[in-house]
Amino acid sequence: MVVYLVGAGPGDPELITLKAVKLLEKANVVIYDRLANEKNLKHADGAQLIYVGKKAGSHSKSQDEINNLLIEQSKQHEVVVRLKGGDPFVFGRGGEEMLALLEKGIEVEVVPGVTSAIGVPTAIGLPITHRGVATSFTVVTGHEDPSKSKRQVNWNYNADTMVILMGVGQLDENIREIMKYKDSKTPVCIIERGTMPDERIMIGTLGNITEKNVEPPAIIIIGPVVEIFKDIQAQRV
Ligand code: SAH
Repeated sequence: MVVYLVGAGPGDPELITLKAVKLLEKANVVIYDRLANEKNLKHADGAQLIYVGKKAGSHSKSQDEINNLLIEQSKQHEVVVRLKGGDPFVFGRGGEEMLALLEKGIEVEVVPGVTSAIGVPTAIGLPITHRGVATSFTVVTGHEDPSKSKRQVNWNYNADTMVILMGVGQLDENIREIMKYKDSKTPVCIIERGTMPDERIMIGTLGNITEKNVEPPAIIIIGPVVEIFKDIQAQRV
């Protein structure tokens, strides 16, 4: 009768929290997304597993369908785990699911996860803040819901480091917008499939980064901390 909204971390199955593992062990049913690494499901031995992520070429479940599924499952089971990539509240629509469940009087608990926005750069040795270089960061979506009546992303952010999630599909358009406010020489790092065995790291500038061939999921980091990462790489033994 409790739905747990649980973050699975950015990819590496060792980056899930102990609390999440304990809940998976107790779960009667696990409803999981594409970015919640399937290796994490080994902890949910005995639970029913329901995949609600997108699959290439096939219809994915709408958010309303997912909300209804969670409501239905909560009526049938004691422990329902809704497993999401990264942190459930960072572009994970966790807030919407929580509200839909609470409206029906269903108890919800949230378990934070290591978000890719911070965990993926940290795992390669790219500090998103650095004394004297970056005192602030912004995390922004590169793919705003097209059904919204008004755009909220305006790209004119003042933070020293900009982190873009879901930024691959509209990389060209977004970089063009950002260059209205930032120099084309501003360093950029793209990390594809961060913390996974087939991770790829690409480095460039706002002026040339769109020449790279990037596949999702990837995170884009813009700002002088990318230079610090290069120094760190150069000094690694
Ligand atoms: N809730 C998630 C983010 C969901 S939005 C979190 O906190 O991490 C999905 C976006 O997250 C992807 O488009 C990509 O930009 C980013 N992402 C998630 N996992 C990633 C990974 N392993 N490597 C790079 N980017 C990742």
